[in-house]
Amino acid sequence: MEVTSTEVLPDDQIIDRFSNFLLNFTTLDEEGRDFYKYREEILQIIADETKRSIIIDFPDLALFDQELAENLLKNPVKVINLFDTGFRRSLKIFQEDISEELLRKYRVRIKNIGKPISIRELHRAENLGKIINFRGIVVKATKVKPILRRAMFRCLSCGLIFPMEFEDEFQKPTACPNPTCDNNNPNRFEMLKDSLEYEEYQELTIQELPEELPPGQLPQSVVTVVRGDLTNKVRPGDRVTVYGVVKTFPERGLRVGKKPLFDILIETLYIDSESSELEEIELTEEEKEIIESLKNSEDLEQKIYQSIAPSIYGYDHIKKAIAALLFGGVPKVLPDGTKIRGTINILLIGDPGTGKSQILKYVAQISPRALYTSGRGASAAGLTAAVVKSDDGWALEAGVLVLADKGIACIDEFDKMSRDDRRALHEAMEQQSISIAKAGIVATLNARTSILAAANPKFGRYLPERDLAENLDLPPTILSRFDLIFVLVDIPKKEEDYKKASHILGLHTRDIRPEPPFSPEFLKKYILYAKEHIFPKLTREAANKILDFYMKMRAMSKEESEETLGMSPIAITARQLEALVRLTEAHARMLLKDEADESDADFAIDLMTFSLSQVGRDPQSGRIDIGIVSTGVSSSKRARYLIVIDILRELENEYPDGVPLKKIIEIAKEKKIGEDFVVEVLNREKNKGNVYEPRPGKYKSVSY
Ligand SMILES: [Zn+2]
Repeated sequence: MEVTSTEVLPDDQIIDRFSNFLLNFTTLDEEGRDFYKYREEILQIIADETKRSIIIDFPDLALFDQELAENLLKNPVKVINLFDTGFRRSLKIFQEDISEELLRKYRVRIKNIGKPISIRELHRAENLGKIINFRGIVVKATKVKPILRRAMFRCLSCGLIFPMEFEDEFQKPTACPNPTCDNNNPNRFEMLKDSLEYEEYQELTIQELPEELPPGQLPQSVVTVVRGDLTNKVRPGDRVTVYGVVKTFPERGLRVGKKPLFDILIETLYIDSESSELEEIELTEEEKEIIESLKNSEDLEQKIYQSIAPSIYGYDHIKKAIAALLFGGVPKVLPDGTKIRGTINILLIGDPGTGKSQILKYVAQISPRALYTSGRGASAAGLTAAVVKSDDGWALEAGVLVLADKGIACIDEFDKMSRDDRRALHEAMEQQSISIAKAGIVATLNARTSILAAANPKFGRYLPERDLAENLDLPPTILSRFDLIFVLVDIPKKEEDYKKASHILGLHTRDIRPEPPFSPEFLKKYILYAKEHIFPKLTREAANKILDFYMKMRAMSKEESEETLGMSPIAITARQLEALVRLTEAHARMLLKDEADESDADFAIDLMTFSLSQVGRDPQSGRIDIGIVSTGVSSSKRARYLIVIDILRELENEYPDGVPLKKIIEIAKEKKIGEDFVVEVLNREKNKGNVYEPRPGKYKSVSY
């Protein structure tokens, strides 16, 4: 609403007129009868002792008393305080015996008020001191602390006791209110310790929504103050709408001769968290019809793949996998309460220059709720969450996985993440939440996030003769939480190179840029529609097909185990089974099908086979061994590993003071096991505490 040249109302009139609004505003109820909305609300508040505020819908006020509403917009800080007084008076009408002290805890909250603006516009001069509203994501929340609101002082000259109220700054009385007393020395007043009244106080840092960010810009944020029952209402990662007043404060205190720069913070009138799912982009009826009409069209699947990173040549399997990640599977809750995630996690390992980062950036562009980041982390919170030191105390800060809740986190340099992130990542990737308990802050944040990660090989290039764990600086426990892992290798292949090069040159010379069948904007809407409306169910045939494949993989592992001296390699596990189901569902969803059938299962099996053939292959035997992914050690290697330990144990009777290394190497050589490997096994076991060196160069195993 436009503020016209309204008269400034006197304080007592503002209090009376607001009280009148609360008691007499009516709206129509469902049966068309007059309904005293706020009077009823006051009765509810009295009945419910935990309620401390009344929420006013601003349009109601503007409708009932326009002049009063305009006074609020014109002079928000002062008028809100008068509204509080009016509200407390109205409460007292219904509950006469309420104490003044309790009454002072009640506050008025106002929603649907102010001009909607973006966080980066808040600093503009025309917004300072004004009521505005903005949307954003909570990235940081301080610990809730009590703030002093009111105290009694005694004049040491005349003995008068009087109250003082504080908003943000503590002050001492500068003069005695007693007209016959001339005490004006701030040190001649005593604050009465048992008279102090507090209110809960919390600061939230709110950042621009990733999808509202101007292209290529870093997100900006603003500090927002919440008090009383608005504290602890939202958590980092929550998307919110804030209604508040833009307050200014001097950056470094105002000093003569220094630049009088100011910073802002928001005094919150009301904060609303968005419970809705993914409704940022509204689809029109026409758009919905276009999407629905694509169902059953023959080339739909190809069109989707061709629309993913069209400027990158090849990598067909990876593009298919990314399509599955974009659409996702269906999350489930088992009868025993166990949750199975629907989100798909994919890891790309690749040599430099294979276009990993480009793929990640592209996905961040076409997914409805996605963030692109580096594993090194742009903030202290890194990938997960952290309790960080703030100006006056501790604050909980959300990392990327929390900020991209219900979306996709595209994480480059995944192998460079911090130790804290490595620890927190297991929970995030499986339970889809992040728990934190530090410095008195205890919280569980949602992280229902799909991860598309890219990592560099440890030795600069991926070495196919080494297994996955040797090639990567990541613990196998994290690797096993990826549904699919792909290796992007830059192996020179003449024909491929020619195609790739002409593709790249084509891009840069003539205007034959591969126009994707679906524009990024359309694909975004398509994904959104599918995620909101399509929840495919697995058919019996599809389930059987997945089970057949799973059993075959397990049998293959078993067969191999006989070859490897009875060592049972870790079989294909339930994790892969769940991944197969997710991929099957995602394929059905991208084709807008309500049932996931055999053809969808084929898609999942094809991707899983391809991924396993790339990373699950045991470099010694050439067979697919899922144990490599889940433990980091292939089964034939595990067998050799155990042989070394057996040699040590057998020789121990002969050498009670410790077995010389030379002797172990000698026997190992007879069994075709190299010296380096022996040393590696002994060192690993030593680190684990299973083997020790009583004298240099002599080894003993720890007996139990
Ligand atoms: Zn006095």
